Amino acid sequence: MVVPYKHEPFTDFTVEENRKALQAAIKQVEADLGKEYPLIIGGERIMTDDKIEVVNPANKKEVIGYVSKANQDLAEKAHQVADETFDWWRKTKAKFRADILFRAAAIVRRRKHEFTAHLVKEGGKPWKEADADTAEAIDFMEYYGRQMLEIDKGVEINSRPIENNRFHYIPLGVGVVISPWNFLFAIMCGTTVAAMVSGNTVLLKPASATPIIAYKMMEVLEEAGLPKGVINYIPGSGKEVGDYLVDHPRTRFISFTGSREVGTRLFERAAKVHDGQKWLKRTIIEMGGKDTIVVDSDSDLELAADAITYSAFGFSGQKCSACSRVIAHEGVYDELLDRVVQKTKEQVNYGDPTDNSNYMGPVIDQGAYDKIMSYIEIGKEEGRLMTGGKGDDSKGWFVAPTVFADLDPEARLMQEEIFGPVVGFTKAKSFDEAIEFANNTEYGLTGAVISNNREHIEKAREDFHVGNLYFNRGCTAAIVGYHPFGGFNMSGTDSKAGGPDYLIHHMQGKTTSEML
Ligand code: NAD
Repeated sequence: MVVPYKHEPFTDFTVEENRKALQAAIKQVEADLGKEYPLIIGGERIMTDDKIEVVNPANKKEVIGYVSKANQDLAEKAHQVADETFDWWRKTKAKFRADILFRAAAIVRRRKHEFTAHLVKEGGKPWKEADADTAEAIDFMEYYGRQMLEIDKGVEINSRPIENNRFHYIPLGVGVVISPWNFLFAIMCGTTVAAMVSGNTVLLKPASATPIIAYKMMEVLEEAGLPKGVINYIPGSGKEVGDYLVDHPRTRFISFTGSREVGTRLFERAAKVHDGQKWLKRTIIEMGGKDTIVVDSDSDLELAADAITYSAFGFSGQKCSACSRVIAHEGVYDELLDRVVQKTKEQVNYGDPTDNSNYMGPVIDQGAYDKIMSYIEIGKEEGRLMTGGKGDDSKGWFVAPTVFADLDPEARLMQEEIFGPVVGFTKAKSFDEAIEFANNTEYGLTGAVISNNREHIEKAREDFHVGNLYFNRGCTAAIVGYHPFGGFNMSGTDSKAGGPDYLIHHMQGKTTSEML
């Protein structure tokens, strides 16, 4: 019997033993820097000449490793392997597939600090954030393993006296999984293993900034007994390899997490039926956010300021759920703004994330840095800079935590996803107006309301149109199995990762009826 699911606890780094363990793991990762990593197709390791150079975003001269890069020929080879493997993999027992995940989760748990240390280096994550990323990867494996066992029990349907009817879910086929760099372990792992445990075969194209953690996950899954060819690891250029696989007539589904720009492009491409294609491709597409915390006139302002500071600046604001807008009632606006600015100045220091005293690390790369800095310039035109507004890309890509006040709700800073440590404030005359402003973006991922007013909480429950809405807390930090995660509108298909419906998106229902 499998024990009931419980999320993986976070490591307490105030405990010296834990601090020492992570420091030692970081040293170990540093000793392994600069290694070369192959592709994995049908279990075969393939080194290519063309490589992705993966650097530490806190120190761009430090190369984490060189990862082989797939081209279209290798992508085609991987597709054929996945297609052939699907023929028998689809018939494997749910228990067999789930057991691989339970074992893999146990392996990662035993070597937790090693993975966390790697995320500090490859993703530029502060300790706490890296630890949460590892914990979430473990959670996805544990939770989806159990969910598959549940689905395998089947669903009762009716039969008339002269017939025997059954209904069950079968896998779809070959899936292309394209993952982002921000939850380099958790989202990459969750999207991949969900597809696999549902009985599909997978072509995994991780983000080019962070492909090494995906290789490490492959090693764990193999150690746990994953047969060859079920998941094929093919990092490469999104445009070259990604487009080729998405367009491929034998691709049955696409599971993408990333930006609105790329997600909508893949959605359009997936809709085209190519020669030889026998199905309409399924798409699971989770995209960006412009997430708002609404602060009511009757609310705990200290709680609000803490929630905003953490949600805006945790992992340098590089979460799809990060708070990038605050809509505060005019009665509390000035005091709230003052508290957030004070907390930001006093608590949100930044620097190399290997040093646990830094609240924030770098942003991921030059492209992100340039984009964020250009939004800071826009913010200076559109609003009032309260703190931050600086960057330094001489060694790594560092941006100061930045707060802008007095923005129009339609300002670009309040509408467009910046994906960095920048938060904007807007004033509302009433709670109704605050919810109206909160809903005025094309996104609909997360949101939070800080309020002591029960009627207002109920109004928000009905009218604040986001996939994940939180009351009297921040808008980040969803936990697998507790806060199923996914957004409305241009935030995606609301597939609810870490929720009870997620695996079904990777499957199709089959009805059989036998006359008696
Ligand atoms: P991105 O869209 O730039 O890249 C995501 C993935 O798509 C990467 O693997 C990339 O290589 C690949 N890609 C790029 N062009 C492609 C193409 N033409 N064809 C196929 N694949 C292609 O996003 P990112 O910068 O890695 O991640 C940040 C974005 O992800 C933010 O917008 C964030 O909000 C979003 N995000 C959303 C969620 C969610 O659950 N909704 C979670 C995490 C991140």
